[in-house]
Amino acid sequence: MQAKKITKQDALLWRSIIFKMALYEPGKPIAEVKREYRLKNVIKLASNENPLGASPKAQEILRKNIREINFYPDSNCCYVREQLGKKLDLSPNMFIVGSGSVEIMKWACESLLQPKDEVVVADICFPVYCSLASLYNAIPKVVPLDADFDHDFELMYSAISRKTKIVFLTSPNNPTGKLIEYDALAQFLEKVPHNILVVLDLAYIDYVTSDYGRSGIDLVAKHPNLLLTRSFSKIYGLAGLRIGYGIADEKTIEVLNRVRMPFSVNSLAQAAAIAALEDERHIKDTLDVNEIGKAYLSQAFRQLGLAYCPTSANFILVDTRHESDEVFQALLRKGIIVRPMRHPRLNTCIRVTIGTLEQNQIFVARLREILCTR
Ligand SMILES: *Cc1c(COP(=O)(O)O)cnc(C)c1O
Repeated sequence: MQAKKITKQDALLWRSIIFKMALYEPGKPIAEVKREYRLKNVIKLASNENPLGASPKAQEILRKNIREINFYPDSNCCYVREQLGKKLDLSPNMFIVGSGSVEIMKWACESLLQPKDEVVVADICFPVYCSLASLYNAIPKVVPLDADFDHDFELMYSAISRKTKIVFLTSPNNPTGKLIEYDALAQFLEKVPHNILVVLDLAYIDYVTSDYGRSGIDLVAKHPNLLLTRSFSKIYGLAGLRIGYGIADEKTIEVLNRVRMPFSVNSLAQAAAIAALEDERHIKDTLDVNEIGKAYLSQAFRQLGLAYCPTSANFILVDTRHESDEVFQALLRKGIIVRPMRHPRLNTCIRVTIGTLEQNQIFVARLREILCTR
């Protein structure tokens, strides 16, 4: 079903920026593809969800807590923050919990941005940053990634002006899967003026097994202008419940709390998040499946002669050497949902989520069929 397009001619006095904003294009849902293509089996490798599902411990808690959804949730997410504090060895007051980590980013923008302010972002990154900047009538200053698809910190620094309020960074980046080198990040943070908020989106940091994640947290102690965002949507498998969190200096958290609507994180999400945090088994299994899948897909791409970005996350960016939308459509017809890339530098690339071994095998078989008949 096509949604009706809103136009400027409509009678209501919509803010004009609304018409300039791009609609977020989510990964196609499985049910929709099944119906549209009359398929029984569809594999979704489009939104970097956990192929093992949610933590069994979280699922168990959900069944118990369903009886209490007549009550409002804990508006301050006290227990989630306490649990996070224990796990990461920080004060609970350095955390804020939102309905997905994107809500934390929204609060940051809402607290800082005024019309004509500037937001510095990379050209190949999560599209939500630019949408949020536009929503508050700020101007996104888009900085190209370098030749290796890494953040170009020199260029990013030179894009900073007196109007800059926020810089968005992502590590590992989406869709490249590349980690920001720690020293480069630390140096950049030393240089950025203290009155500019640096949002470091760490949605995939749980897949990074080195102590990099911990180091990111250490940077918060040094830089009161740094906000880390992390998610329960990826390794914890709770994307459908919408819960994520921010870590920053207590003063920053205090400000974000002022713009937060009460009860934005539902009670089931909170209960499941606490259980998932403690479910070491599920986290370990997820990491194992991801490592095996990463090795399998990388090898398959090499055999197919396709270039790919070595990834630190749970997805891989691969150059199919055919128009990305065509490959995407051809895979859809065979019951596999991936992400076609639209950026001019990536218009023959797709981003594929690392699935279970079986899902990866089916994906590679279908991709091979498609590429070999072209
Ligand atoms: C998936 C993803 C998120 C997660 O968003 P939630 O709102 O926590 O589900 C954030 N940033 C990036 C780059 C992502 O790919």
